Amino acid sequence: MKVGFIGLGIMGRPMCKNVLKAGYEVTVFDFNTAAVEDLVACGAKGAKSGKEVGENCDVLITMLPNSPHVKAALFNENGAAEGLKAGSVVIDMSSINPVESQNIAAKLAEMNVGFLDAPVSGGEPKAIDGTISVMVGGDQELFDKYYDLMKSMAGSVVRTGAVGAGNTTKLANQMIVAVNIAALSEAFVLCEKAGVDPQLVFEAIRGGLAGSTVMNAKAPMMLSRNFEPGFRIELHIKDLQNALDTSHSINVSLPLTAQVMEMMQALKIDGREKKDHSALLNYYEKINNITVGGKN
Ligand code: NAD
Repeated sequence: MKVGFIGLGIMGRPMCKNVLKAGYEVTVFDFNTAAVEDLVACGAKGAKSGKEVGENCDVLITMLPNSPHVKAALFNENGAAEGLKAGSVVIDMSSINPVESQNIAAKLAEMNVGFLDAPVSGGEPKAIDGTISVMVGGDQELFDKYYDLMKSMAGSVVRTGAVGAGNTTKLANQMIVAVNIAALSEAFVLCEKAGVDPQLVFEAIRGGLAGSTVMNAKAPMMLSRNFEPGFRIELHIKDLQNALDTSHSINVSLPLTAQVMEMMQALKIDGREKKDHSALLNYYEKINNITVGGKN
């Protein structure tokens, strides 16, 4: 099975390395030539365009910021679709609007190319150690055929329904993560102002009902005031916007998601959109005129 990989950023680069480690032959492309060179040093074949990747693979993995990037990488001039053979398959692991996944699948089906939407959760550390969670939408037959390939990057790979279901699952994941980080920030600001050390609060409550994977990952970042991504605010805004667009299109109201979206928007206006989403703490610090940990 020859694999193509387009999108070698924070997530795609380590994910692609794990595919190589599993023994697959991989051809890669990214606008960032340093990322391509890094993968070539790990045994991949470097390509000069998406088209060249398409010509050299049976299955193409894309790991790009949002749907415009996925559509451009596939369908623009010199894009992968110009090279893909009938009978090949695209596995889009980017987090995008589920409706766009369905549109892309329909366009590829006209060329007799299959499609799975397979966004991931877990962030860079789990992408590096190969333990991300993959949530997949698409035909069971394709899911079964490419399970081992997806598992080479992941701790778990679960099919949640037809095309689009993977990204709907991812939206649920992103809503839960965003609201959790906001709740953690809100609590830390209260404790700081009340004179109770947030570090000790974290240690006291992490093993109880309030404890969570989000808390274990983000509280240490907040407490050490390390807001380097990780997962950028601008990408989380994209996910929450996709959640709100999707919910409005099917008549669902998401009040908590909308509220956290506006907090992230305020951080973006403040020039912090490239920071990690743990920087939601900075929003609470600003409106409360306080700094958690007492330093800047
Ligand atoms: P990133 O911005 O670090 O990487 C994106 C890469 O795509 C860049 O290297 C860019 O040069 C490349 N690119 C963009 N358009 C291209 C095109 N047309 N052709 C070729 N290359 C192109 O993003 P990331 O953090 O790796 O995230 C990728 C996806 O994974 C996003 O949808 C994000 O929401 C999702 N995600 C990210 C994390 C995280 O912690 N960073 C966690 C889970 C899911």
